[in-house]
Amino acid sequence: MQFDAIILGGGIIGCTHGHYLAQRGLKVAVFERGRIGGGTTARNFSWVNATSKTGNPDYHRLNALGVSMYDDLAAAFGAEAIGLRQTGALILARRSQAALHAALRRQAAALERLGYPVAWLDAQALQAHEPDLSLADDTEALLAPADKCLDAPRLARFMAGRIAAAGGAVFENCAALELLTDEAGAVSGLRSARGEMRAPRVVVAAGPDTPAVLGALTGYDGFATRFPVNRVPGLLVTTPPVEAGRVRHLVWIDGPRDLHVLPEPDGGLRIAADAEDGAVSEPPDPAALRPHAAALLERMRKIMPAFAGAELLDACRIEVGIRAMPQDGLSIAGAMPGAEGLFVIVTHSGVTLAPALGQLMAEVVADGVRPQMLRPFGPERLPGFA
Ligand SMILES: Cc1cc2nc3c(=O)[nH]c(=O)nc-3n(C[C@H](O)[C@H](O)[C@H](O)COP(=O)(O)OP(=O)(O)OC[C@H]3O[C@@H](n4cnc5c(N)ncnc54)[C@H](O)[C@@H]3O)c2cc1C
Repeated sequence: MQFDAIILGGGIIGCTHGHYLAQRGLKVAVFERGRIGGGTTARNFSWVNATSKTGNPDYHRLNALGVSMYDDLAAAFGAEAIGLRQTGALILARRSQAALHAALRRQAAALERLGYPVAWLDAQALQAHEPDLSLADDTEALLAPADKCLDAPRLARFMAGRIAAAGGAVFENCAALELLTDEAGAVSGLRSARGEMRAPRVVVAAGPDTPAVLGALTGYDGFATRFPVNRVPGLLVTTPPVEAGRVRHLVWIDGPRDLHVLPEPDGGLRIAADAEDGAVSEPPDPAALRPHAAALLERMRKIMPAFAGAELLDACRIEVGIRAMPQDGLSIAGAMPGAEGLFVIVTHSGVTLAPALGQLMAEVVADGVRPQMLRPFGPERLPGFA
C-alpha cells in the first residue's frame, strides 16, 4: 500500500501529528504495535500547562502554544469529544517554608514576564477556590487559570479517527519492523507485521521506545545505546469516586513531601509525587509499589482529613508510566540528519505539546519547511548529529 507519510507510534504525539498531516491533504498511515493511546499516553499526570516550564523561554513558548491550541481544538470539535477539562491549576506553598514560597513567587514573576496568565492567591482566596481542602493557615497559591486536564488516550483515539476519516489508515496491533530505503538510501517505507507499506516520509513517534525503535529499524545499534533519551518511570494512583470532598483544580504541592492531585471526571482523584517516583523500577514490581501508593494516599488524607487514605489502597488503580526524557529536557523534533525522509518527534510533556509539535512538524514533513519555533528543538543539536 502507498501512503504520503507513515507514522510509527499511535500515542498522543503520533496521532495528533497525523491529524495535522491529513489536514494538509496527505494520505497518512499510523502503525501502532498495541492499542492507540495505550503507551505512556495512557499513564501520565494529564496536566496541560506551560506553568512548570519557566527555565527556557523557547520551551515555554512551545508549551504555551500547546495550551492555547487546545482551546482551538475544543472550539473545533468540542471539549468533551477530545477529553479536555478546563480545570486550571493551583501550585501551593506555605509562607513558613520560606525557600519554597520564594521559589513560587519567582515562578509567578517569571510567568508574568513571559506573558502567561497567572494570579497569586492569599490563604483566604485559596480556601475559596478549594473549600474541601484543609490547608495550613499560611498556605498561598499561584493560580494558572489557562491550565487544563486532558484524557490523553481519548484525544489519541479521536485523532486516529480523523486520520481514518480523511482517507488514511490506522493499523493497531501492528509493529513496525524495518525501515525500507531506495537505491539512493532515501526512506521509501516500512516493513510491518502486515507486510511492506510504501511512503517517502516516515515519522518515528515511539515515545520512550524511540532509541530502541530507531536502532531496530535502521539496524544501527548506536541509536539504541546513545540516542540521548532516558526512560524515567513515574507512579500514579487513581482512587474510586471520593465521598469526602471534591478537588476542583489540578493541585500541585512542591517540597520533600510533594503531592500532585488531579480530579478525575467521575469524582475520583489521580495522585502522584516526585518523591515516590524515585522508588519505581522498570519493570515495576507490583508488591514493591504498594507502600509507595499507600504513602501517596496518606499524604492526600493530610489535606483532606475525611479522605480514607491508605484504607482505599485495594480499591485504587496503581500504575507506572514511563517518561521519554531527553537528556537536556527539551523536545527532539525534526528531520533526522543524514537520513532523507526520516523524521522524529520525542518529548516529555507530550500531553501539553502534542498539538504544537504535531502542527509545527506537519510543516516540516509535508513542505520541508522548518518553522522558527522548532529551530531550538532539532535533532541536529544532539551529540553525534552536528
Ligand atoms: C508519570 C508521568 C506523568 C506525566 N505527566 C505529564 C503531564 O502532566 N503533562 C504532560 O504534558 N506530559 C506528561 N507526561 C508525559 C506524557 O505522558 C508523554 O510525553 C506523552 O504521553 C508521550 O506520548 P507519545 O505519543 O510520544 O508516546 P506513547 O504514548 O508511549 O506512544 C508511543 C507509541 O509507540 C508505540 N510503538 C513503540 N514501538 C513500536 C513499533 N516498533 N511499532 C509500532 N508501534 C510502536 C508504542 O506502543 C506506543 O503506543 C507524563 C509522563 C509520565 C510517565
